[in-house]
Amino acid sequence: MLNFEDDYTPPARPQPIAPAMPPMPRLQPVMPVPAVGGVAPVQATVEAMAVAPDNKHRRVRAEDKRIINANTDVNQLVPFKYKWAWEKYIAACANHWMPQEVNMNRDIATWKDPNALTDDERLIVKRNLGFFVTADSLAANNIVLGTYRQITAPECRQYLLRQAFEEAIHTHAYQYIVESLGLDEGEIFNAYHEIPSIRAKDEFLLPFIDVLADPNFRTGTPEADQTFLKSLIAFACIMEGLFFYVGFVQILAMGRQNKMTGAAEQYQYILRDESMHCNFGIDMINQIKLEQPHLWTNAFKAELKAMFQRAVELEYAYAEDTMPRGVLGLNAPMFKEYLRFIANRRATQIGLDELFPGASNPFPWMAEMIDLKKEKNFFETRVTEYQTGGALAWD
Ligand code: FE
Repeated sequence: MLNFEDDYTPPARPQPIAPAMPPMPRLQPVMPVPAVGGVAPVQATVEAMAVAPDNKHRRVRAEDKRIINANTDVNQLVPFKYKWAWEKYIAACANHWMPQEVNMNRDIATWKDPNALTDDERLIVKRNLGFFVTADSLAANNIVLGTYRQITAPECRQYLLRQAFEEAIHTHAYQYIVESLGLDEGEIFNAYHEIPSIRAKDEFLLPFIDVLADPNFRTGTPEADQTFLKSLIAFACIMEGLFFYVGFVQILAMGRQNKMTGAAEQYQYILRDESMHCNFGIDMINQIKLEQPHLWTNAFKAELKAMFQRAVELEYAYAEDTMPRGVLGLNAPMFKEYLRFIANRRATQIGLDELFPGASNPFPWMAEMIDLKKEKNFFETRVTEYQTGGALAWD
């Protein structure tokens, strides 16, 4: 039986959360911290863990776990504390899929037929792939090089490992579409350098990866913890929660009109994964807020609000660039409302006020797309048996 700490009761004397938690030892790669003001450098190393007198040989207690800055052994998954993280890991594994399982033959015929798609529809496909073929690599880098090593809750690390693999599957899916359609790989894979509306989104995001990927970065001060939290919000709420959505709506709208149905099916599975990435990130953000409420200052909230507003502008510029005219029953102004609606939702999910009061959803059908059920045709037709030990040859 799983040992969730459902009925966990806090200690008799609740320990106040210190406003500025000192850096704590944890199991991480050796990260030299430069000396500041003549103070000897601190090594956040396995050795530091081994000599920590208050931690040596102590068994992990669920109540000691924290999303960041915990003084518990990150190698021990149980006892569980964050049930939601473990459940999302299990759900993500249950949603496993691979791009080659989706039949692309119909899309290939459509793409080759000069009369099957308009130039504007072709532009949408190429711009979409131009953004997404590198977007999931950024998301993966953010997890693997930045977020993961700061997270001290093993349940969350477990989900992040699964998420990192899903980002790889998504990059694979986009590459598979590019290859299937015989698109110019140089054009598509360089779009993030060469197409200004895509470049602008990536330039917005890259600093949030760079700051965490700095080997000297570590959480443990209010400033560093806010920096970390801001990067989490940039990726969960803006990258995966906003920047993906113009592209998702466009390709899924195409699929609804019976065009590029293989690509649309791939996007539907990606959307399901991404909505879980977004929700998992939001759960982590809200848990960090609960554990360290001093981080959530008015000045910090104002910074976040400005970040959301900039993101909506960038995504709207991308919508205009990809839809110079109305296409597929969509047009750029519809996305202005949609992006405001999504930005409101993301902001309120992490406890900020609505940024654009009264914005409504012009694409209610997207909710059905996110709530993809297992009984969807894909699961009736897919190859469900993955390569197992029985398929390996040892000679
Ligand atoms: Fe993702």
